[in-house]
Amino acid sequence: MDLKNKIAIVTGAGKGIGRVTALALAKEGANVTLASRTMPDLQSLAKEIGNVGRKALPIVADMSRENDIKKMINETVSKFGGIDILVNNAGLGRFGRVESLTTQDWDEMFEVNMRGLFLSTREALPHLKRKPESFVINVASLAGKNAFEGGGGYAATKWGVLAFSKCLMLEERKAGVHVLAICPGSVATHFQHPGASKPDSEKVLQPEDVAQTIIAAIKLPQRAMVSEIDIRPTNP
Ligand code: NAP
Repeated sequence: MDLKNKIAIVTGAGKGIGRVTALALAKEGANVTLASRTMPDLQSLAKEIGNVGRKALPIVADMSRENDIKKMINETVSKFGGIDILVNNAGLGRFGRVESLTTQDWDEMFEVNMRGLFLSTREALPHLKRKPESFVINVASLAGKNAFEGGGGYAATKWGVLAFSKCLMLEERKAGVHVLAICPGSVATHFQHPGASKPDSEKVLQPEDVAQTIIAAIKLPQRAMVSEIDIRPTNP
């Protein structure tokens, strides 16, 4: 897909992978809806997108709230006239052994990482299917493939995202909807990593690495669909 004048939505766009991906999409020519819970983050990003000559629509939307998700989709369609790309990126990690993981942490991860991703996809699909070619990009994780102590809740959400993405891909590819689940290893962002200390930023991926991988997958010819990508640091 040529991204010029395409319409994208990025959830969790205020920080980290979402922020860099939204800006990368704009630099390729897309107009972008930016969603998260913190308006100042979105406004500063909207300004950066304006500086590269594209339009941004900042929307405060909590991905654990169905009404916020519907508003995000409806306002995007009202302002830009449709949707070509949905990047389901918003997500969080709460880590702890099963014996000590709280119900609140479990519920919050499932509400955002899985339920929010399902709801935004379902609401966007009728609009995506009006386009000859469109994309759902789900930011999963290598934690959706590799088990580790303390990851019982988070890894379960990302395992679920991968299962969901595969089913969706089989359902919608004939309608022109490309579905990609991208599985990064550790990325230097605000994300709360397992363990007490932050990973050494020299030894992890940068959000740009994930963003550029997403852009490369979108820019392939229409006949080709990359449905899953693992991306990991070379110097862990
Ligand atoms: P981040 O730096 O913490 O950014 C997360 C973004 O999501 C923020 O803009 C945050 O903004 C937003 N967000 C969080 N909860 C939200 C909610 N309920 N509704 C709407 N927006 C929400 O994290 P990141 O590392 O970029 O993570 C992005 C995605 O990558 C996540 O799905 C994560 O699981 C995945 N991932 C991360 C890594 C890593 O090592 N960093 C590795 C693999 C996969 P507000 O708090 O203002 O809403």
